[in-house]
This record gives sequence, C-alpha cells and structure tokens, in this order.
Amino acid sequence: MPKIFLIDVTNRDGVQTAKLGLSKLEKTMINIYLNEMGIFQSEFGFPTTRHELNYLNANLELAEMGVLQPIRLQGWLRAMAEDVRAAFRNTPKIKHLNLSISTSDQMINGKFCGRKNSKDIIREMAEAVDTARALGAETVGVNAEDSSRTKLNYLLEFGRVAKEHGADRLRYCDTLGYDNPFTIYEAVRTLAEKLEMPIELHCHGDLGMAEANSLAGAKAAIDGGQDAYINTTINGIGERAGNADLVAVILGCTKSKDFAGNYPMGTGINLSLAWKIAKFASYAFGVPIPLNQPGVGANAFSHASGIHADGVLKDPENYELYGYEELGRGEPEFVETGREIIAGQYSGISGFSHIMGKMEVSFANDQEARKVLELARYANVEAQKPLVSDELVFIARYPEIARKLLTLTPLE
Ligand SMILES: [Zn+2]
Repeated sequence: MPKIFLIDVTNRDGVQTAKLGLSKLEKTMINIYLNEMGIFQSEFGFPTTRHELNYLNANLELAEMGVLQPIRLQGWLRAMAEDVRAAFRNTPKIKHLNLSISTSDQMINGKFCGRKNSKDIIREMAEAVDTARALGAETVGVNAEDSSRTKLNYLLEFGRVAKEHGADRLRYCDTLGYDNPFTIYEAVRTLAEKLEMPIELHCHGDLGMAEANSLAGAKAAIDGGQDAYINTTINGIGERAGNADLVAVILGCTKSKDFAGNYPMGTGINLSLAWKIAKFASYAFGVPIPLNQPGVGANAFSHASGIHADGVLKDPENYELYGYEELGRGEPEFVETGREIIAGQYSGISGFSHIMGKMEVSFANDQEARKVLELARYANVEAQKPLVSDELVFIARYPEIARKLLTLTPLE
C-alpha cells in the first residue's frame, strides 16, 4: 500500500526566507533532530552555492559516519545539466537531488521573457535528469515550479518525460499557495494515475491552506496508487507566508479524522521530539512560536474558561485532541535565574570548561579543551547568539566535522 513520507525543506526553503537565516551549525543540528525524529529526507541545501559547500560536505561525512542515518540528505538545484555537473564537483558524495524548473506560462513568459519556451523547459529538465543519473545520483526528484498555475496537460508531459529519463518523483509545487484542498486533489490524483510515479507536495501558506493542501495532495497521490512525499518546514518558516508546518502536518496525518488508517506514514515518526525541534528552530531563526501554533504553541494545551477548564480536568479528551506528552511537552525546563557563565566568541578556557563540565563533557587534556573552545568561538561568530547545549556537545564530540562546517573561505 502506498504511504506518506516527509521531506523537510527548512534547510532550503526555510533559509531562503527574507530577513531570516541559519548558521551552518544550526542547519546541521536541524538535520540531526530531523533524523532523530524519523523524517525521511532533509533538503539540506544548495550544492552550487559556494558558502554551503563545507557545510554540505561535512554533513555528507556525518551520513557516512552513521550520525545522519537513515535520513536522506538531498540537494536542491536548478534543473540544468551544468548545475548538476557543478553539484557533483562540489559535493562528490551527494546521492540525492531535486532539480527545479518553472513550468507555468506565467513564469515561462514572465521570468524567461522569450529566452526559453515550454519545449526548452522539458528538454533542459531531461538533460539535467540524464546528467544526474550518469553521474551516479541514487534518487532524482523533479520539481515543477508553479505547478498549480501550470496547464495539467503540460504538467503530464513534463512528468512523463522526467520519468522516461529516470526521475523517481515529481514535485508538485504550489509555489504561490494558490491551490485549495479540492483543486490540488484533482490535479495530483490525475498526475498519480496517469504518470504512475510518486508525487511530492510542496505547499505554501499564502491563503492559509498549506497543511490542508498537503494532506489533500497526499490523499490524492495515494488514492491514485502512488506514494506521497510531503514537503514541510519547522514552524512553517518559508518564503512569504511560509510552508506546511512539520508538526502540524504530522498531527494532521496521524490525528485527523479517519486519515491515518487509510493513509499511513512510511517511516516511524518520533513525535516526542516536536517540542524540542520547534523550540530550537524558533531560537535559531529568532522567530517566536505563535501562541496558537498547533501542538507547540504556548496555548495549545491551555484552558481558562470555566466550562473548558472544568471539562478538561474531568477528562482531558473533553477538550484536547491529543496529549501534550506525545509532543515532548510537560517536562520542567531549567532556566538560570542567577549567575550565568556563557560561551561566546571571546570566551576563555576557564569559563568554557565550567560550562562544558556542567554538561558532563570532559576533555582528554588542555589542548583538546582549547581546540573545542576555539571552534565554539567560531560557531558564536557565525550564529551571533549563545549556542545551545546540544551544539556545544556536538562540537566537542565531532571537532573535525565542526571545523569543516564552520570554515568559510570567500573569494579564494
Ligand atoms: Zn517553496
């Protein structure tokens, strides 16, 4: 039976959001948390962007070491043969790619302005898929940007050629958040049935329907006999009004009426990491979690009015659809209210050893401690805010990987 798989795109769509960004260490931590959570794949960055390369290669090394396993790390590229060649030059160990190109008349005319027509788009995409296959890509997804404003017949032709050339999946991109659950269902069901290939759902929230559209699209793919791959971002952070929120999509797939029994998840999801990953992304992006965010908002399990409070005290199921413990909430959190020693970009060995000692991290000798301190200082330079304890532990545990992903060498 076809199933639903999650591809988180925080490290691609999330970081290209205006006014926001993540350090390379923060991106790495997100890959680690996604892996722990059982997410199928992370769209972990841009293999043709120079400042990404040390980070990407360091994370591919973590995959080889078994630290980032079983999650798949997948790069995002323009669907152009030259970009695919550059990706394999820059990140030789990359195995999974998604190749993206615009398919709507609006974008073909409005962006390429006569330089490319609809035939060129399909030809370039096919060349890019051929190149990816020839260079050893294990999986190739093909993204039709602005699918929801693309004529369905053209999308079918685009998908048919992609499949012929060896693409594994077609990404249906509702780039502008134009679809509603009814329209995306119709389009995706037709694509799944006629193309007989798995469909990815990439939905945006411009009309507030990113999660609903993702579920409707997934249902359509599965009803059409194909696996569905939902694109998410943590806290829904993404271009403009954002993407489908990771936690809300998981909740929708597993808790909404009559869904899970008929449309199962393809990987075991550890929902108890929801609170941790949402809090980390909020801190890393510097964007507070809205009070009313599903599952992880401050009010998601709060009750004030008489009837609700009385009802939930008698039986939580009166007014709560799922338990807070399932999301990893309810544990006391330690907040220092007195003296604090913090690691920063100008920290010294004494304060740093104190901090690491509190986390029960010890060093073989003074030299090792000073090396990890130096790396933590660099990480602070990049993040411009105190590192969380998991980041410090990561640096202490994998100093060589940290050194690589923190290395930025512009204009060599
Ligand atoms: Zn997007």
